[in-house]
Amino acid sequence: MPELPEVEVLVRHLSPLLVNKRVQQVKLRRPKVLRPTSLRLFRQILGGAKFSGLKRRGKYLVFELQPANGPEPIIMLGHLGMTGRMYLLPAEAPLPKHAAVVLCLGHEQFVFEDTRYFGRLTLDCTALAKLGPEPLEPDFTCGAFARALRRSRQAIKVKLLDQTVVAGLGNIYASEALFRARLAPTLPACGLTMQQIKRLRRAIRGVLAMAIASGSTVPLDYDGSAGRDDLFYFGRATKAPASYSERLRVYDRAGEPCLRCGTLIRRRVQAARTTFYCPHCQRQ
Ligand SMILES: [Zn+2]
Repeated sequence: MPELPEVEVLVRHLSPLLVNKRVQQVKLRRPKVLRPTSLRLFRQILGGAKFSGLKRRGKYLVFELQPANGPEPIIMLGHLGMTGRMYLLPAEAPLPKHAAVVLCLGHEQFVFEDTRYFGRLTLDCTALAKLGPEPLEPDFTCGAFARALRRSRQAIKVKLLDQTVVAGLGNIYASEALFRARLAPTLPACGLTMQQIKRLRRAIRGVLAMAIASGSTVPLDYDGSAGRDDLFYFGRATKAPASYSERLRVYDRAGEPCLRCGTLIRRRVQAARTTFYCPHCQRQ
């Protein structure tokens, strides 16, 4: 499932391709992904609008458009869910089977494809108001992080997935950050010392920054003709390296030796999500 770094890389990739392109036609194959925006409203507002910017907030893509009529900019929110992909195709290219929304932009078309339909492309932005601080921005302070953690007896791994505590972490980077910070994923969030909180904050910022830097070096391909990356749910260019999941130290490595101490990495299920950790390095 794409997390903050994957979305950030996608945003950086798509932004220059979309800006100044005008939506000439809206094709809705799976109106469910627009919820709660109605089909009619989506068509009416998007028709003729011009992309003016693209940003990321948490795991959301925040598209900015100038409407055909009226000065007020439009915000369209995208979420990749589990399997969503967003890319541009030449106008004449056939659409993939699971294309949910297609925005015709003249010589190209913007495609939102989703095989499992957990993703979203909507004009409803209420989800943004609930998000906690951006982990790479200055407002993600140790103080704010500590206050959010102190209110909860949930295990720290589970709490890190709570988007109101910090926005953008998912299963992969929560496991990786806890390994870097040498913290057991089962520790109650409210029991962390200030020193542990500082270490964890630094680890979160470190893993995310590294993942963005690493992802930014991978050339992306609009149609995924070179096959899909196992972390990035959109195509990889033909000459791109096969995979860069090696940068993950614990995630999906159960039964393999810890890269730091050699102990076998374990997995456990917490709140219906799998956590990977080193029982030796992450004892406290
Ligand atoms: Zn270890």
